[in-house]
Amino acid sequence: MPELPEVEVVKNFLKSNFQKKKIIKVKIINKNLRFEIQSIIKTKLTNLIITKIYRRGKYLILLLENNLSLMIHLGMTGYFRMTNEENRKKHDHLIFYFCSKVLIFNDVRKFGFIKLYNFEELNDSKHLKDMGPEPFSDGFNLNYFTKKIKRKCSVKNLLMNQKFVAGLGNIYCSEILFDAGVNPEKICNELSKKQIEKIILSTRRILEKAINFGGTTIKNFVVNNEKIGYFKNKLKVYGKENQSCPRCKSLAKIQRIKQSGRSTFLCTKCQN
Ligand SMILES: [Zn+2]
Repeated sequence: MPELPEVEVVKNFLKSNFQKKKIIKVKIINKNLRFEIQSIIKTKLTNLIITKIYRRGKYLILLLENNLSLMIHLGMTGYFRMTNEENRKKHDHLIFYFCSKVLIFNDVRKFGFIKLYNFEELNDSKHLKDMGPEPFSDGFNLNYFTKKIKRKCSVKNLLMNQKFVAGLGNIYCSEILFDAGVNPEKICNELSKKQIEKIILSTRRILEKAINFGGTTIKNFVVNNEKIGYFKNKLKVYGKENQSCPRCKSLAKIQRIKQSGRSTFLCTKCQN
C-alpha cells in the first residue's frame, strides 16, 4: 500500500504536469471505487483550472477554481498515467482531458477513491479531520511526541496511527525504528528522550531518502505507466527475515514478528 513517500512521488508527478492547467473535460469510465465516483464531478470540473496540488498524509489534494477540491487516495493499486490521447486499459476509472494531455486514473483492486469537496469542507472531512502532523513539519517535535505518549501502546503502533503522525505505514515504520535503534515492541511511555529524538530524526531521514529514490515497490507501485520504487533496494529490514542484520552483521538475523496482525521486521541486537 502506498505510504507517504510513494504518494509524494505521485504528487510531484501530477504537480509538474498539471498544476495551473485547465481541465477541459472529465469522463467516468467505471465509478466503482472504494466510494462511488460522484457523477457530478463531470459537470463541476469542466473548464476549471487546477490551482494547487499537494499531499496530506497518504492523500493527494487537488485544489480547483470555484472553491472546489478533489481528494484522491491510491488505495492498494491506484495510479495515474499521462498520455497524448485517450488509450484505454482494463481497470481505468476516470479520465481528465487537458489541452494537450490526457490523465487517466486506473485502479485494479478498487480500494482507491476520488471525492469532490468544497474547499471549506475539506479539512473537516472524516479523512483529514483528526490527522496528526506531517513528519516534516515543525509540529512533529520532541515536545509533541512527549505529550502524546502517555498511553500504553507499542512504539510501532504509535507510528502507524495516522492521528499521531501522518503518512507512515508498515514498511517505513520497520525501517524507521531500525534506523533509530528502537525495538518496535517498546511501550511508548517508556521511551527515553534520546530515543524519541532519534525516532524523529530517523523518520525524516528514511522518508526523505525514500522520496529521493522514487518510493518503494513491494507489489506494483506505478507512476505514469512506469513501475518505479528504487528504495526497495535500500530497505534494511523490511522483508529481510532470516537475513543477517546489515548493522551488526553476523551477530544476529532479522526477525519477523506480528503486531496488530501486521508484520514487523527488526534486529533484536541493534534495537532495544
Ligand atoms: Zn543488528
